[in-house]
Amino acid sequence: MAAVVNVNGRIGSEREALISVLDHGFLYGEGVYEVVCAYGGRPFLFDRHMRRMRTSAQMIALTVPYSDAELTAQVEATIAAFCERPENAGVGNLYVRLLLTRGVGEITYDPASCPRPSLVIIVKALGAFSSELYDGGVKVVIVSVVRNHPCSINPLIKSNNLLNNALAFQEALRRGAFEGVMRNYRGELAELSTSNLFVVKDDRALTPPLDAGLLSGITRGFVCEICEAVGLSVEQRVLHDEDLFGADESFLTSTTKEVVPIVQVDERAIGNGKPGPWTKRLLEAYRRRVKELTGGTEVAGGD
Ligand code: PMP
Repeated sequence: MAAVVNVNGRIGSEREALISVLDHGFLYGEGVYEVVCAYGGRPFLFDRHMRRMRTSAQMIALTVPYSDAELTAQVEATIAAFCERPENAGVGNLYVRLLLTRGVGEITYDPASCPRPSLVIIVKALGAFSSELYDGGVKVVIVSVVRNHPCSINPLIKSNNLLNNALAFQEALRRGAFEGVMRNYRGELAELSTSNLFVVKDDRALTPPLDAGLLSGITRGFVCEICEAVGLSVEQRVLHDEDLFGADESFLTSTTKEVVPIVQVDERAIGNGKPGPWTKRLLEAYRRRVKELTGGTEVAGGD
């Protein structure tokens, strides 16, 4: 199913969507982005995503020349254009990717040569993951690619510069895994290449703290709130390989994947090798909250 794309306010098919090769987003990976799910056409936790995008932009000294109302209007117009196309009739939940780059300039790192950031919004169907993935859980591997040092490209920035993540994900794929767990430069567990990590031990959910060098996932934050709601205490704690291998349960979180049980790490089973009871409860509670907040359905999809 083809995407509908908005480039600086001009909405068209993905074939019509053009961006200059002199955009510093293309030349240097200078830009930030967000991925939002629209359930039943309604973007989920949109205000949180907008807040994080502004923080990311600030961290690369990029001024966002749009108000939240303007960004909302652009997203809504792009979703409407996608839904209006006859071939998209009946498409359920949507994937919405917003990118804000430094903009078009000279071939120099000097940002002064870029008068205006470029805004791109891509809307497509949220390809559903199979229910077996949630019912059976996934294998992950601990990859050799180290997460960016916070003094290099801070993982708190949701940056278009994704080579660190892509290399980690490629290693995971080569090793037959769904995702790759990345350590930080100190050897502590940080996050996965496209998602955040949780373990459950002795009826406590544990997740690495932000200063382990990771993205402050919107789903991570939302799931922490849900943990409290279902009676599972949650703590941000430094985690090492042994904590993952010795976990009772583990799961990963992301906007498009929601809550995915991890049942195997490298060649070792987690717990009894099946999705744990807390993980199942959290996924159910997450989907209930999605329904309550959007009135939509709740099938997660791919990146
Ligand atoms: N960590 C990384 C590196 C990611 O790329 C993502 C999402 N793409 C996440 C975590 C999860 O973040 P969110 O819950 O906001 O989607």
